[in-house]
Amino acid sequence: KDAAGENRDPQNRPKASLADGRRKTMAAPDSAKASKRMSVIKPPTQGKRGKFAECKRPNQKFYEMVQDFRETLESVPLSLTDMVKTQRICVCVRKRPLNKLEETRKDIDVISIPGNGSLLVHEPKHKVDLTKYLENQAFQFDYSFDETTTNEVVYRFTAKPLVYAAFEGSMATCFAYGQTGSGKTHTMGGDFRGKNQNSSTGIYYFAAREVFSLLSHRTYSHLNLSPYVSFFEIYNSKVFDLLNDKAKLRVLEDERQQMQVVGLEEVFVSEVEDVIKLIELGSACRTSGQTSANANSSRSHAVLQIALRCNDRASTLYSKFSLVDLAGNERGQDVNSNDRNTLNETAEINTSLLALKECIRSLGQNKDHIPFRMSTLTRVLRDSFIGEKSKTCMIAMVSPSMASCDYTINTLRYADRVKELNGTSKASA
Ligand code: ADP
Ligand code: MG
Repeated sequence: KDAAGENRDPQNRPKASLADGRRKTMAAPDSAKASKRMSVIKPPTQGKRGKFAECKRPNQKFYEMVQDFRETLESVPLSLTDMVKTQRICVCVRKRPLNKLEETRKDIDVISIPGNGSLLVHEPKHKVDLTKYLENQAFQFDYSFDETTTNEVVYRFTAKPLVYAAFEGSMATCFAYGQTGSGKTHTMGGDFRGKNQNSSTGIYYFAAREVFSLLSHRTYSHLNLSPYVSFFEIYNSKVFDLLNDKAKLRVLEDERQQMQVVGLEEVFVSEVEDVIKLIELGSACRTSGQTSANANSSRSHAVLQIALRCNDRASTLYSKFSLVDLAGNERGQDVNSNDRNTLNETAEINTSLLALKECIRSLGQNKDHIPFRMSTLTRVLRDSFIGEKSKTCMIAMVSPSMASCDYTINTLRYADRVKELNGTSKASA
Protein backbone atom coordinates (compact mmCIF):
# COMPACT_ATOMS: atom_id res chain seq x y z
CA LYS A 1 0.00 0.00 0.00
CA ASP A 2 1.51 3.32 -0.94
CA ALA A 3 1.42 6.48 1.10
CA ALA A 4 -1.60 7.81 -0.72
CA GLY A 5 -3.45 4.55 -0.29
CA GLU A 6 -5.55 5.75 2.59
CA ASN A 7 -6.76 8.76 0.75
CA ARG A 8 -8.04 7.12 -2.30
CA ASP A 9 -11.56 7.59 -3.38
CA PRO A 10 -13.53 4.74 -1.85
CA GLN A 11 -15.77 4.53 -4.89
CA ASN A 12 -12.76 4.40 -7.12
CA ARG A 13 -14.03 7.14 -9.35
CA PRO A 14 -11.61 7.81 -12.16
CA LYS A 15 -9.19 10.55 -11.38
CA ALA A 16 -6.51 12.31 -13.35
CA SER A 17 -3.83 9.63 -13.07
CA LEU A 18 -3.05 10.65 -9.53
CA ALA A 19 -3.42 7.21 -8.11
CA ASP A 20 -0.08 5.86 -9.23
CA GLY A 21 2.04 8.42 -7.50
CA ARG A 22 1.33 11.14 -5.05
CA ARG A 23 3.22 13.77 -6.90
CA LYS A 24 4.17 13.35 -10.47
CA THR A 25 4.96 15.43 -13.42
CA MET A 26 2.74 15.10 -16.39
CA ALA A 27 4.15 16.41 -19.61
CA ALA A 28 1.15 17.77 -21.43
CA PRO A 29 2.02 20.80 -23.49
CA ASP A 30 -0.94 20.18 -25.69
CA SER A 31 -4.31 18.72 -24.97
CA ALA A 32 -3.96 15.92 -27.50
CA LYS A 33 -1.02 14.56 -25.60
CA ALA A 34 -2.83 15.13 -22.35
CA SER A 35 -5.75 13.11 -23.61
CA LYS A 36 -3.61 10.03 -23.88
CA ARG A 37 -2.25 10.31 -20.38
CA MET A 38 -5.30 11.29 -18.42
CA SER A 39 -7.82 8.66 -17.58
CA VAL A 40 -10.77 11.05 -17.47
CA ILE A 41 -10.98 12.80 -20.75
CA LYS A 42 -13.68 14.73 -22.44
CA PRO A 43 -13.04 15.53 -26.10
CA PRO A 44 -11.59 19.03 -26.40
CA THR A 45 -14.17 21.55 -27.53
CA GLN A 46 -13.57 23.04 -30.89
CA GLY A 47 -13.20 26.65 -31.91
CA LYS A 48 -13.15 28.10 -28.42
CA ARG A 49 -10.03 30.12 -28.95
CA GLY A 50 -12.25 32.85 -30.32
CA LYS A 51 -13.58 33.57 -26.87
CA PHE A 52 -10.13 34.47 -25.54
CA ALA A 53 -9.27 36.65 -28.48
CA GLU A 54 -10.73 39.87 -27.17
CA CYS A 55 -8.84 39.89 -23.86
CA LYS A 56 -5.13 39.75 -24.58
CA ARG A 57 -2.93 39.21 -21.58
CA PRO A 58 0.82 39.11 -21.16
CA ASN A 59 0.67 35.35 -20.92
CA GLN A 60 -2.11 34.69 -23.36
CA LYS A 61 -0.45 31.55 -24.72
CA PHE A 62 -0.06 30.01 -21.28
CA TYR A 63 -3.60 31.05 -20.42
CA GLU A 64 -4.93 29.13 -23.40
CA MET A 65 -2.78 26.12 -22.62
CA VAL A 66 -4.14 25.99 -19.07
CA GLN A 67 -7.69 26.36 -20.37
CA ASP A 68 -7.10 23.57 -22.86
CA PHE A 69 -5.75 21.34 -20.15
CA ARG A 70 -8.75 22.06 -17.92
CA GLU A 71 -11.08 20.96 -20.67
CA THR A 72 -9.64 17.50 -20.22
CA LEU A 73 -10.22 17.40 -16.49
CA GLU A 74 -13.27 16.04 -14.85
CA SER A 75 -14.00 17.68 -11.55
CA VAL A 76 -15.64 16.12 -8.55
CA PRO A 77 -16.56 19.10 -6.42
CA LEU A 78 -16.44 18.82 -2.65
CA SER A 79 -19.89 18.50 -1.20
CA LEU A 80 -21.18 19.23 2.27
CA THR A 81 -22.44 15.68 2.44
CA ASP A 82 -18.96 14.25 1.87
CA MET A 83 -17.69 12.14 4.73
CA VAL A 84 -15.31 13.78 7.16
CA LYS A 85 -12.41 11.43 7.81
CA THR A 86 -11.27 10.88 11.35
CA GLN A 87 -7.53 10.89 11.48
CA ARG A 88 -4.72 12.05 13.66
CA ILE A 89 -3.05 14.23 11.09
CA CYS A 90 -4.96 15.89 8.34
CA VAL A 91 -3.29 17.93 5.62
CA CYS A 92 -5.31 19.85 3.11
CA VAL A 93 -4.92 22.67 0.65
CA ARG A 94 -7.01 25.74 -0.09
CA LYS A 95 -6.81 27.88 -3.21
CA ARG A 96 -8.05 31.46 -3.02
CA PRO A 97 -9.57 33.31 -5.99
CA LEU A 98 -7.47 35.72 -8.05
CA ASN A 99 -7.65 39.10 -6.31
CA LYS A 100 -8.46 42.48 -7.86
CA LEU A 101 -4.84 43.40 -8.43
CA GLU A 102 -4.09 40.09 -10.10
CA GLU A 103 -7.21 40.49 -12.25
CA THR A 104 -6.12 43.97 -13.27
CA ARG A 105 -2.69 42.73 -14.20
CA LYS A 106 -4.36 39.94 -16.14
CA ASP A 107 -2.37 37.45 -14.17
CA ILE A 108 -3.45 33.90 -14.91
CA ASP A 109 -4.78 31.16 -12.68
CA VAL A 110 -2.43 28.17 -12.88
CA ILE A 111 -4.00 25.97 -10.19
CA SER A 112 -6.73 23.41 -10.83
CA ILE A 113 -8.62 21.52 -8.15
CA PRO A 114 -10.24 18.49 -9.76
CA GLY A 115 -11.50 17.36 -6.33
CA ASN A 116 -11.05 14.33 -4.09
CA GLY A 117 -8.08 15.99 -2.42
CA SER A 118 -6.13 16.47 -5.62
CA LEU A 119 -4.54 19.64 -6.94
CA LEU A 120 -2.72 20.40 -10.17
CA VAL A 121 -0.14 23.10 -10.73
CA HIS A 122 0.23 24.08 -14.37
CA GLU A 123 3.71 25.50 -14.22
CA PRO A 124 4.56 27.67 -17.23
CA LYS A 125 7.95 26.76 -18.71
CA HIS A 126 10.10 27.49 -21.73
CA LYS A 127 12.14 25.02 -23.73
CA VAL A 128 15.66 25.92 -24.86
CA ASP A 129 14.23 27.07 -28.17
CA LEU A 130 11.79 29.24 -26.16
CA THR A 131 8.73 27.15 -27.03
CA LYS A 132 6.21 27.47 -24.23
CA TYR A 133 4.94 24.42 -22.40
CA LEU A 134 3.23 23.55 -19.15
CA GLU A 135 4.70 21.29 -16.56
CA ASN A 136 1.65 19.86 -14.85
CA GLN A 137 2.34 18.64 -11.35
CA ALA A 138 -0.21 16.69 -9.39
CA PHE A 139 -0.48 16.70 -5.60
CA GLN A 140 -2.72 14.66 -3.38
CA PHE A 141 -3.97 15.73 0.05
CA ASP A 142 -6.75 14.74 2.41
CA TYR A 143 -8.93 17.53 1.05
CA SER A 144 -8.47 20.20 -1.58
CA PHE A 145 -10.65 23.29 -1.46
CA ASP A 146 -11.12 25.36 -4.60
CA GLU A 147 -11.66 29.12 -4.86
CA THR A 148 -15.43 28.78 -4.46
CA THR A 149 -15.22 26.99 -1.12
CA THR A 150 -16.42 29.04 1.83
CA ASN A 151 -14.72 29.30 5.22
CA GLU A 152 -17.62 27.39 6.71
CA VAL A 153 -17.03 24.39 4.44
CA VAL A 154 -13.28 24.53 5.11
CA TYR A 155 -14.10 24.59 8.81
CA ARG A 156 -16.34 21.54 8.54
CA PHE A 157 -13.55 19.38 7.16
CA THR A 158 -10.62 20.79 9.13
CA ALA A 159 -11.14 22.38 12.54
CA LYS A 160 -14.56 20.99 13.38
CA PRO A 161 -13.36 17.41 13.98
CA LEU A 162 -10.67 18.92 16.22
CA VAL A 163 -13.22 20.73 18.38
CA TYR A 164 -14.96 17.41 18.92
CA ALA A 165 -11.60 15.81 19.66
CA ALA A 166 -10.92 18.46 22.31
CA PHE A 167 -14.13 17.44 24.06
CA GLU A 168 -12.82 13.89 24.04
CA GLY A 169 -9.73 15.15 25.84
CA SER A 170 -7.40 15.64 22.86
CA MET A 171 -4.83 18.33 22.44
CA ALA A 172 -5.94 19.58 19.05
CA THR A 173 -4.15 22.04 16.78
CA CYS A 174 -5.02 23.55 13.43
CA PHE A 175 -2.40 25.44 11.39
CA ALA A 176 -2.82 27.86 8.50
CA TYR A 177 0.32 27.70 6.38
CA GLY A 178 1.32 29.56 3.21
CA GLN A 179 2.86 32.64 1.68
CA THR A 180 1.74 36.11 2.71
CA GLY A 181 -1.48 37.01 0.92
CA SER A 182 -2.53 33.41 0.33
CA GLY A 183 -5.50 33.57 2.71
CA LYS A 184 -4.30 32.36 6.12
CA THR A 185 -5.81 35.19 8.14
CA HIS A 186 -8.92 35.20 5.96
CA THR A 187 -9.46 31.52 6.70
CA MET A 188 -8.77 31.78 10.42
CA GLY A 189 -10.12 35.21 11.29
CA GLY A 190 -12.72 35.93 8.65
CA ASP A 191 -13.12 38.97 6.46
CA PHE A 192 -10.92 41.97 6.96
CA ARG A 193 -12.19 45.11 5.34
CA GLY A 194 -9.91 47.97 6.15
CA LYS A 195 -9.60 47.89 9.90
CA ASN A 196 -13.03 46.42 10.48
CA GLN A 197 -12.89 42.74 10.88
CA ASN A 198 -15.95 40.60 10.50
CA SER A 199 -14.77 37.65 12.49
CA SER A 200 -18.08 35.84 12.28
CA THR A 201 -16.97 34.29 8.99
CA GLY A 202 -13.71 32.72 10.10
CA ILE A 203 -12.67 29.43 11.65
CA TYR A 204 -12.05 31.17 15.00
CA TYR A 205 -15.71 32.03 15.17
CA PHE A 206 -17.06 28.70 13.94
CA ALA A 207 -14.86 26.86 16.42
CA ALA A 208 -15.89 29.08 19.33
CA ARG A 209 -19.55 28.64 18.44
CA GLU A 210 -19.13 24.88 18.38
CA VAL A 211 -17.36 24.90 21.75
CA PHE A 212 -20.34 26.58 23.37
CA SER A 213 -22.83 24.30 21.73
CA LEU A 214 -20.90 21.22 22.85
CA LEU A 215 -20.48 22.53 26.40
CA SER A 216 -24.23 22.41 26.85
CA HIS A 217 -24.70 19.24 24.81
CA ARG A 218 -25.92 16.26 26.83
CA THR A 219 -22.92 14.16 25.74
CA TYR A 220 -20.45 16.56 27.32
CA SER A 221 -22.33 18.70 29.85
CA HIS A 222 -21.63 16.22 32.66
CA LEU A 223 -17.90 16.87 32.20
CA ASN A 224 -18.50 20.22 33.85
CA LEU A 225 -15.97 22.16 31.78
CA SER A 226 -15.29 25.86 31.36
CA PRO A 227 -13.60 27.50 28.37
CA TYR A 228 -10.71 29.96 28.66
CA VAL A 229 -9.20 31.93 25.81
CA SER A 230 -5.64 33.09 25.29
CA PHE A 231 -4.19 34.77 22.25
CA PHE A 232 -0.51 35.45 21.65
CA GLU A 233 2.00 35.89 18.89
CA ILE A 234 5.51 34.58 18.40
CA TYR A 235 7.83 36.98 16.70
CA ASN A 236 11.56 36.39 16.43
CA SER A 237 11.35 33.56 18.99
CA LYS A 238 9.68 35.81 21.52
CA VAL A 239 6.16 35.47 22.83
CA PHE A 240 3.89 38.52 23.07
CA ASP A 241 0.48 38.51 24.75
CA LEU A 242 -2.13 39.89 22.37
CA LEU A 243 -4.67 40.13 25.20
CA ASN A 244 -2.30 42.17 27.34
CA ASP A 245 -0.91 44.96 25.21
CA LYS A 246 1.77 42.76 23.64
CA ALA A 247 3.45 42.09 26.97
CA LYS A 248 6.59 40.07 26.36
CA LEU A 249 6.39 36.67 28.00
CA ARG A 250 8.86 33.96 28.90
CA VAL A 251 8.52 30.28 28.09
CA LEU A 252 9.66 28.01 30.89
CA GLU A 253 9.66 24.30 31.43
CA ASP A 254 8.29 23.38 34.84
CA GLU A 255 9.27 20.47 37.07
CA ARG A 256 6.74 18.21 35.32
CA GLN A 257 8.33 19.00 31.93
CA GLN A 258 5.30 21.10 31.04
CA MET A 259 5.90 24.19 28.98
CA GLN A 260 4.56 27.31 30.63
CA VAL A 261 4.13 30.68 29.02
CA VAL A 262 4.63 32.66 32.20
CA GLY A 263 1.97 35.30 32.82
CA LEU A 264 -0.11 34.58 29.73
CA GLU A 265 -3.63 36.01 30.08
CA GLU A 266 -6.25 33.30 30.10
CA VAL A 267 -9.71 34.80 29.99
CA PHE A 268 -12.82 32.90 31.03
CA VAL A 269 -15.49 33.21 28.35
CA SER A 270 -19.19 32.61 28.86
CA GLU A 271 -20.55 33.11 25.37
CA VAL A 272 -19.37 33.25 21.79
CA GLU A 273 -19.49 37.07 21.75
CA ASP A 274 -16.85 37.11 24.49
CA VAL A 275 -14.54 35.14 22.23
CA ILE A 276 -15.22 37.46 19.30
CA LYS A 277 -14.38 40.50 21.44
CA LEU A 278 -11.09 38.91 22.49
CA ILE A 279 -10.24 37.96 18.91
CA GLU A 280 -10.92 41.49 17.73
CA LEU A 281 -8.96 42.97 20.60
CA GLY A 282 -6.05 40.64 19.94
CA SER A 283 -6.08 41.12 16.17
CA ALA A 284 -6.09 44.90 16.57
CA CYS A 285 -3.22 44.58 19.01
CA ARG A 286 -1.36 42.36 16.56
CA THR A 287 -1.49 44.86 13.73
CA SER A 288 -1.16 48.04 15.80
CA GLY A 289 1.81 50.21 15.02
CA GLN A 290 2.09 48.81 11.53
CA THR A 291 1.87 50.79 8.37
CA SER A 292 0.06 48.07 6.45
CA ALA A 293 -2.01 45.21 7.78
CA ASN A 294 0.34 42.70 6.28
CA ALA A 295 3.63 44.23 7.42
CA ASN A 296 4.84 42.69 10.67
CA SER A 297 1.94 40.39 11.25
CA SER A 298 3.02 38.31 8.27
CA ARG A 299 6.32 37.69 10.05
CA SER A 300 4.81 36.39 13.26
CA HIS A 301 2.81 33.33 14.22
CA ALA A 302 -0.52 34.09 15.95
CA VAL A 303 -1.87 31.44 18.31
CA LEU A 304 -5.44 31.46 19.58
CA GLN A 305 -6.05 28.87 22.28
CA ILE A 306 -9.23 27.68 23.88
CA ALA A 307 -8.46 25.70 27.00
CA LEU A 308 -11.16 23.51 28.50
CA ARG A 309 -10.75 23.33 32.25
CA CYS A 310 -12.62 21.25 34.79
CA ASN A 311 -14.72 23.20 37.25
CA ASP A 312 -12.77 21.83 40.20
CA ARG A 313 -10.80 23.78 42.72
CA ALA A 314 -7.55 23.53 40.77
CA SER A 315 -9.19 24.25 37.40
CA THR A 316 -7.45 21.16 36.03
CA LEU A 317 -6.69 21.35 32.34
CA TYR A 318 -8.91 18.91 30.42
CA SER A 319 -7.79 19.73 26.88
CA LYS A 320 -6.61 22.51 24.66
CA PHE A 321 -7.59 23.57 21.20
CA SER A 322 -5.14 25.82 19.30
CA LEU A 323 -5.61 27.69 16.05
CA VAL A 324 -2.37 28.95 14.55
CA ASP A 325 -2.07 31.59 11.84
CA LEU A 326 1.55 30.97 10.82
CA ALA A 327 4.07 33.52 9.56
CA GLY A 328 4.34 33.82 5.77
CA ASN A 329 6.61 31.06 4.48
CA GLU A 330 7.96 33.10 1.54
CA ARG A 331 10.78 34.52 3.62
CA GLY A 332 12.72 31.40 2.95
CA GLN A 333 13.70 32.80 -0.39
CA ASP A 334 14.33 36.27 0.94
CA VAL A 335 18.08 35.95 0.69
CA ASN A 336 18.62 39.18 -1.20
CA SER A 337 17.95 41.33 1.77
CA ASN A 338 21.01 42.66 3.53
CA ASP A 339 19.01 44.17 6.34
CA ARG A 340 20.11 42.41 9.48
CA ASN A 341 16.69 42.38 11.11
CA THR A 342 15.08 40.88 8.06
CA LEU A 343 17.75 38.21 7.80
CA ASN A 344 17.27 37.34 11.43
CA GLU A 345 13.50 37.19 11.04
CA THR A 346 13.90 35.00 7.99
CA ALA A 347 16.14 32.58 9.84
CA GLU A 348 13.71 32.41 12.77
CA ILE A 349 10.71 31.76 10.54
CA ASN A 350 12.58 29.08 8.60
CA THR A 351 13.67 27.38 11.80
CA SER A 352 10.20 27.38 13.31
CA LEU A 353 8.46 26.11 10.17
CA LEU A 354 11.08 23.39 9.79
CA ALA A 355 10.65 22.45 13.45
CA LEU A 356 6.90 22.35 13.03
CA LYS A 357 7.15 20.00 10.09
CA GLU A 358 9.51 17.71 11.97
CA CYS A 359 7.29 17.65 15.05
CA ILE A 360 4.15 16.76 13.10
CA ARG A 361 6.07 14.07 11.23
CA SER A 362 7.36 12.61 14.49
CA LEU A 363 3.84 12.66 15.91
CA GLY A 364 2.55 10.77 12.91
CA GLN A 365 5.33 8.21 13.10
CA ASN A 366 4.69 7.69 16.81
CA LYS A 367 8.30 8.48 17.56
CA ASP A 368 9.42 8.70 21.15
CA HIS A 369 11.48 11.72 20.40
CA ILE A 370 9.65 14.85 19.31
CA PRO A 371 12.12 17.61 18.41
CA PHE A 372 9.97 20.36 19.93
CA ARG A 373 12.93 22.19 21.44
CA MET A 374 13.99 23.32 17.97
CA SER A 375 11.90 26.50 18.09
CA THR A 376 9.75 28.66 20.35
CA LEU A 377 6.68 27.83 18.28
CA THR A 378 7.07 24.09 18.84
CA ARG A 379 8.10 24.53 22.49
CA VAL A 380 4.95 26.50 23.19
CA LEU A 381 2.85 23.93 21.36
CA ARG A 382 4.68 20.96 22.89
CA ASP A 383 1.47 19.46 24.28
CA SER A 384 0.10 19.28 20.78
CA PHE A 385 2.76 16.86 19.62
CA ILE A 386 2.87 14.39 22.46
CA GLY A 387 0.50 11.83 23.79
CA GLU A 388 -1.83 9.36 22.21
CA LYS A 389 -4.60 11.85 21.86
CA SER A 390 -2.89 14.67 19.97
CA LYS A 391 -4.56 15.67 16.75
CA THR A 392 -3.37 18.08 14.08
CA CYS A 393 -4.67 19.64 10.92
CA MET A 394 -2.67 21.76 8.52
CA ILE A 395 -4.35 23.88 5.88
CA ALA A 396 -1.87 24.91 3.20
CA MET A 397 -3.06 28.08 1.48
CA VAL A 398 -2.09 28.84 -2.08
CA SER A 399 -2.53 31.75 -4.41
CA PRO A 400 -3.75 30.79 -7.89
CA SER A 401 -1.59 33.28 -9.76
CA MET A 402 1.17 32.46 -12.20
CA ALA A 403 3.31 35.08 -10.47
CA SER A 404 3.15 33.06 -7.24
CA CYS A 405 3.83 29.71 -8.88
CA ASP A 406 7.22 29.11 -7.24
CA TYR A 407 5.91 29.96 -3.78
CA THR A 408 2.90 27.77 -4.36
CA ILE A 409 5.03 24.78 -5.30
CA ASN A 410 7.13 25.41 -2.21
CA THR A 411 4.03 25.42 -0.02
CA LEU A 412 2.72 22.24 -1.61
CA ARG A 413 6.01 20.42 -1.17
CA TYR A 414 6.11 21.35 2.49
CA ALA A 415 2.54 20.16 3.03
CA ASP A 416 3.33 17.01 1.11
CA ARG A 417 6.23 16.22 3.45
CA VAL A 418 4.04 16.77 6.51
CA LYS A 419 1.54 14.34 5.05
CA GLU A 420 3.97 11.64 4.01
CA LEU A 421 3.56 9.99 7.36
CA ASN A 422 -0.17 9.63 6.91
CA GLY A 423 0.33 6.34 5.17
CA THR A 424 3.16 3.98 5.84
CA SER A 425 6.23 5.90 6.89
CA LYS A 426 8.63 6.47 4.07
CA ALA A 427 12.33 7.02 4.35
CA SER A 428 12.88 10.74 4.63
CA ALA A 429 14.88 12.45 1.94
P1 ADP B 1 -2.40 35.98 4.60
O1 ADP B 1 -2.96 36.05 5.99
O2 ADP B 1 -2.06 34.59 4.18
O3 ADP B 1 -1.26 36.92 4.38
P2 ADP B 1 -4.93 37.15 3.90
O4 ADP B 1 -5.83 36.22 4.62
O5 ADP B 1 -4.67 38.46 4.54
O6 ADP B 1 -3.55 36.45 3.57
O7 ADP B 1 -5.51 37.30 2.43
C1 ADP B 1 -5.04 38.28 1.52
C2 ADP B 1 -6.23 38.90 0.81
O8 ADP B 1 -6.91 37.92 0.02
C3 ADP B 1 -7.26 39.47 1.75
O9 ADP B 1 -7.75 40.67 1.22
C4 ADP B 1 -8.34 38.42 1.81
O10 ADP B 1 -9.60 38.98 2.08
C5 ADP B 1 -8.27 37.82 0.41
N1 ADP B 1 -8.63 36.41 0.43
C6 ADP B 1 -7.88 35.41 0.92
N2 ADP B 1 -8.49 34.22 0.78
C7 ADP B 1 -9.66 34.47 0.17
C8 ADP B 1 -10.76 33.64 -0.26
N3 ADP B 1 -10.75 32.32 -0.09
N4 ADP B 1 -11.80 34.26 -0.84
C9 ADP B 1 -11.82 35.60 -1.03
N5 ADP B 1 -10.83 36.41 -0.65
C10 ADP B 1 -9.76 35.88 -0.05
MG1 MG C 1 -2.19 37.16 7.58
